[in-house]
Amino acid sequence: MERFKALLDELKCTGKLSGEGWLYLLSRPADSFRNAAASLAEKITIERFGNKIFVRGIVEFSNFCSNDCYYCGIRCSNKKTERYRLEEKEILECCSAGYEYGFRTFVLQSGEDAFWNPERLAVLVKKIKARFPECAVTLSVGELERPQYQQLFDAGCDRYLLRHESASPEHYAMIHPERQKWSSRMKCLQDLKEIGFQTGCGFMVGSPGQTLEHLVCDMEFLSSFKPHMIGIGPFIPHCDTPYAKEKSGSVELTLLLLSLCRIMLPDVLLPATTALGTLLPDGRELGIRAGANVVMPNISPAECREKYSLYNNKNSADPGSTGVLQSGLQKKLAAIGREIVIARGDYGEKIC
Ligand code: SAH
Repeated sequence: MERFKALLDELKCTGKLSGEGWLYLLSRPADSFRNAAASLAEKITIERFGNKIFVRGIVEFSNFCSNDCYYCGIRCSNKKTERYRLEEKEILECCSAGYEYGFRTFVLQSGEDAFWNPERLAVLVKKIKARFPECAVTLSVGELERPQYQQLFDAGCDRYLLRHESASPEHYAMIHPERQKWSSRMKCLQDLKEIGFQTGCGFMVGSPGQTLEHLVCDMEFLSSFKPHMIGIGPFIPHCDTPYAKEKSGSVELTLLLLSLCRIMLPDVLLPATTALGTLLPDGRELGIRAGANVVMPNISPAECREKYSLYNNKNSADPGSTGVLQSGLQKKLAAIGREIVIARGDYGEKIC
């Protein structure tokens, strides 16, 4: 335990560790170690953000996807998925309802859908920003060319989420088809950050073929890239993918990784992900207690939720939309001494 704690201190003070140091930490997901990391992470979170939790309303506006990620339920090869896409008017309605609920960030996520090209997205972003000037818009629509990202930024988009999925080129190549390149994904992330988006990357824990060395690589990447947001959740199999028979990722290891991210990057916006809430009924609260400070409830129309099936049982985690301050989520957070704040929740925004 002494070495473990010394490494946590080193991470807190310097924001980095040697490969050997990372491996030592990541090989210890057992309760006593994980709890030591979680209590330091929770302390840092509360120093920085008080007891406030940011919420983002997520609109999953299309499950058409031209990509073929082996792990993902909406991959183009999955012919069983019933495809849908929302029209502009429907997306704006989701935002209006979300605004009434108390959301001040809208996250628009989809598969890689040719209909929703950058031109159409830019028009949509402008309309959302005009209608809800005090709200932030986050896009999560995959890989685009730099000028297209620039076009979306110029249209007023504030943030962009693009999980890097794996910082190891070899592991990335195992879980994606040949035509999806690690180098393109990484280039996109560089472009997004340089353009000026609040940029989010991230990865799944326990995706097939992932080793602790791969996770070391992920942590080293986060340490040097310094994203504004990090999405980390357990891998969960989907029955109509090549990984149908694979095991889910470890909740304990996910929680440890969340704590290490908070200790390394104290200001980072770190969601307790839906996937964590899917594996355990109180997974999101555990994520918060491990250093997360963001929750992203689904505000998509009820009819779509089943179809945006990245992994099995995804929607069982979602309580359904109500006013954020009246929600079951708020009560669960109150039980652990936290409360939702109605705010954009930008990176670097002073809360305390
Ligand atoms: N098309 C967008 C959005 C992808 S879906 C993009 O390319 O960024 C959002 C995230 O869900 C993915 O980045 C992936 O990390 C996660 N995901 C996909 N399948 C999953 C699974 N089976 N288990 C857990 N997370 C999964």
